[in-house]
Amino acid sequence: MCGIVGYIGYEQAAPFLLSGLERLEYRGYDSAGICLNDGGELVVKKSKGKLVELKALTQNGTNIHGTVGIGHTRWATHGEPSDVNAHPHLSDSCRFAVVHNGIIENYLQLKEYLISKGVKFRSQTDTEVIAQLIEYYYQGDLVDTIIKVLSKLDGSYALGVISKDAPDEIIAVRKESPLIIGLGENENYIASDVPAILSKTRRIYRLQNNEIAILKRDSIKIINTDKEEIAKTVETVEWDLDAAEKGGYEHFMFKEIMEQPKAIRQTVARHIKNGRVVLDEIRLTPEQLKSYNKINILACGSAYHVGVVAKYVFEKTLRIPVEADLASEFRYRDPIVDDKTLTIVISQSGETADTKEAMKEAQRRGSHVIAIVNVVGSAIAEESDDVIYTLAGPEIAVATTKAYSTQLAVIYLMALHFGEMLGTIGKAEYDNYITELEALPDKISQILESEEKIQYLASKLFNSRDVFFIGRNIDYALSLEGSLKLKEISYIHSEAYAAGELKHGTISLIEDGTLVIALATHEALIAKTVSNIEEVRTRGAYVLCLACEDHQEIKNVAQSTIFIPKTCDMMLPSLAVVPLQLFAYYVASLKGCDIDKPRNLAKSVTVE
Ligand code: GLU
Repeated sequence: MCGIVGYIGYEQAAPFLLSGLERLEYRGYDSAGICLNDGGELVVKKSKGKLVELKALTQNGTNIHGTVGIGHTRWATHGEPSDVNAHPHLSDSCRFAVVHNGIIENYLQLKEYLISKGVKFRSQTDTEVIAQLIEYYYQGDLVDTIIKVLSKLDGSYALGVISKDAPDEIIAVRKESPLIIGLGENENYIASDVPAILSKTRRIYRLQNNEIAILKRDSIKIINTDKEEIAKTVETVEWDLDAAEKGGYEHFMFKEIMEQPKAIRQTVARHIKNGRVVLDEIRLTPEQLKSYNKINILACGSAYHVGVVAKYVFEKTLRIPVEADLASEFRYRDPIVDDKTLTIVISQSGETADTKEAMKEAQRRGSHVIAIVNVVGSAIAEESDDVIYTLAGPEIAVATTKAYSTQLAVIYLMALHFGEMLGTIGKAEYDNYITELEALPDKISQILESEEKIQYLASKLFNSRDVFFIGRNIDYALSLEGSLKLKEISYIHSEAYAAGELKHGTISLIEDGTLVIALATHEALIAKTVSNIEEVRTRGAYVLCLACEDHQEIKNVAQSTIFIPKTCDMMLPSLAVVPLQLFAYYVASLKGCDIDKPRNLAKSVTVE
């Protein structure tokens, strides 16, 4: 995956391209580059490493000139991160330059063909074949050529193309990877995501699959591959740049942790009217709902952990069997799914390739798909049968916090909505759930106010080599997320175990001082979890236990404790995840890690 940006206007393009790339670095950051048309010549500067390297190379965009240009920040899929593999890629004779987000699946055949025709390649990327194909087929009309080239490509792409021969235009194309067009005054822009262009304009078009945009300084034309013009509606972006920037905090992750009360409040408020959940987005009749004998939840990473929470929530409230499945596994195992299965897919970006493909597989087998997505107009949002948006706002830190929390909120809303339709939740219980759901933001604020305690615990424990998170039932689902949060940003080896499972093998890894984080929020199972805490303490573990505030007796069994306010069982993860996010954050900070951009990761995983 990667970030694309482009500018055509009367100003120097490079400073804008660099600032746009800066806001897209969450999409990939192993190398970056820009290409400008400087008086009829395509000039490229690119560099391995984060954007600061490119900024240094271009002296902050001052030593490269031109008013038309494209830029790219990369997360390599084909070819190691290196200067030569960084985008933009030029054609053999440097007439065309291309930036690309996605994967060209048949690039090897295309490359072999072009090599047999004498074309010389510079990089190991799949992307370079696009630039070379454009030059190979070019007969004077860039748009015609690009349409021809697209017909040769299998895979996914968002593309920005400039040419020496057409110095006053940028061509942008999208298939399966996101791309937006920004509308300015005497200048126009392309970008993978809104923050890149928000300093310039709020007016955008979202390109759909197989749409081609032809940008000039004072016009934008959008056509399909038959060259028919497409009338697009201008969308006005309502959030401002501040929302996409750090707002005074040192890291996006911390800012996003702090934004959780607001994000949950917005997501919940939109769907509760007069004490009842209203989910008009879901177009299922009670009869359809009753016909389902299984719910399948497909997702990856933290969104999958939301799916594991949802399994406990839905099975308890709806009495329907639920399977939470890793999207990357689902589609390759001939899954048992049909029109009697309801599928729920969860993805912050709505572009997660594994989830998108799993969704399509479920649809092919006749299943109705409801998507829970944060990014409006994203591929999964567009292609699912129904979509519920989390109103988390832009999430920039690679490690998710507020998107996870708002996804959980949507799961509770769905449980209440379906529970009412199916008659599996009684009136008093329903009213209590609504009260608890609406109280979550304030309770989270209360936890956030005591973040210094977590910071202190992190300062005591940040040197741990291995960490085990244990919990039972919904606390197990939570331990998966707590463990992932810690390892992804602090690089400490960490594992999550169902508390009762540790003794079946993993307990052999516990030795003097091993940190065990025990989650004991689920009231009915506290005694069982306490037994598991005793088992690891006997073997030398240092136990940090997280429990609800009315269980102060936990202080007697663990060396350190964190208490959270009480709520109904199913909503406990929404409160308990917050100290775990803060703990991971402070540990990573004390270890000097690059918190917002952990190594080897990227935000929207748009490749399989
Ligand atoms: N497949 C291309 C590459 O490896 C683009 C990857 C991306 O989307 O950043 O260079």
